Amino acid sequence: MEYLLPSSKIITEEINLNKFGITGYSLFIRREDLIHPFVSGNKFRKLKYNLIEAKEQKYNTLLTFGGAFSNHIAAVAAAGKELNLKTIGIIRGEELISKISENATLSFARKCGMHLQFVTREVYRLKDTSKYKNHLKEQFDDFYLIREGGTNALAVKGCEEILPKGNSFDYICVPVGTGGTMAGLVKASNESQKVLGFSALKGSFQTSEIQKYTSKTNFEITDSYCFGGYGKIDMDLVRFINEFKEKTNIPLDPVYTGKMLYGIMDLLKKGHFKENSRIFAIHTGGLQGVDGMNQKLKKKNLPIIK
Ligand SMILES: *Cc1c(COP(=O)(O)O)cnc(C)c1O
Repeated sequence: MEYLLPSSKIITEEINLNKFGITGYSLFIRREDLIHPFVSGNKFRKLKYNLIEAKEQKYNTLLTFGGAFSNHIAAVAAAGKELNLKTIGIIRGEELISKISENATLSFARKCGMHLQFVTREVYRLKDTSKYKNHLKEQFDDFYLIREGGTNALAVKGCEEILPKGNSFDYICVPVGTGGTMAGLVKASNESQKVLGFSALKGSFQTSEIQKYTSKTNFEITDSYCFGGYGKIDMDLVRFINEFKEKTNIPLDPVYTGKMLYGIMDLLKKGHFKENSRIFAIHTGGLQGVDGMNQKLKKKNLPIIK
């Protein structure tokens, strides 16, 4: 299974903060995005032990759920292809069935061999009920089920491996969706470190999700940099993502990592971090979503992510 995570590719880069007019801190970026060109770094981390489990239990099919631009759908499709497992994606939104070829995520998933089933939003909302799961079992025979977003105990275990052993960082920063990735980082951190989560959506409901997996309390989540909600962006964020790439050569995605780095830079400028601290930020990937976002921006005649 290790070949899914070619760890030699994952490097840690130091960012030259002078270029951003900031001094007195060190910022490092963990390039989990380099795990795979099309697949989110953290989604592979979350899948790793689930895939081992599915193989051990002799399943030959993975079934999961997601929206039209889901990094998780892309990751499951790619992993299934790599491991010779069939994959089924239950996709939110019936109208998308006629738009697969214009949607980069869905066409990638289909190219990997994923069977896509489009359901209405009403049906999609039932996805965690046993009634709907039984219905799916009748339709597709047996499968290994992975929740939307992929968070479970095995996913958290995989995410613990993101943090290099014996590191000496003061802060560990990570974008947050469900909180599964952050839970792994909190578990792997030591209590003198602070894990800072930048929520990609409004609210901080993820705290209780994280507490399901760890009793440690050395973490904090902010939604101050969610730009109004999940998948929402503005021109300031697009400008920042392009500036960041120009200055560092590191591409960011607009849903997760762009918002986190925007937040880190803002907090640095505001003096939020302890002086001389060493900050470690996880680039969780998500770059496959850039095309979809640019399509929307182009339709509105707005500047795109370069
Ligand atoms: C899904 C995702 C996240 C959020 O991960 P959670 O474990 O759900 O919090 C962060 N970054 C990227 C790029 C993602 O695809």
